[in-house]
Amino acid sequence: MLARFLIWALFLLVVWRALRSLFAGVVQGASRPPVPPAGPPEKGEMMVRDPVCGTFVLPSRAVSARDRNGTHYFCSDRCRHAYQQH
Ligand SMILES: [Zn+2]
Repeated sequence: MLARFLIWALFLLVVWRALRSLFAGVVQGASRPPVPPAGPPEKGEMMVRDPVCGTFVLPSRAVSARDRNGTHYFCSDRCRHAYQQH
């Protein structure tokens, strides 16, 4: 009998806390204007392959070089230099 009561009390406590955190999250979300996430836009950026060593790199962080075939991205200056030696 007591055990059942304790289980119910625990259940209600969990539900109450969940509702409170949900409500707090809504209030916090309403009072704060939506701010775009800071930092480099890593999500959604296409990875490109370093043609020298085969490493995949992010264009925004890679070393780039342009030639008649277009722009190429490299993991390092060393790879770019190697590519330009061709
Ligand atoms: Zn490389």
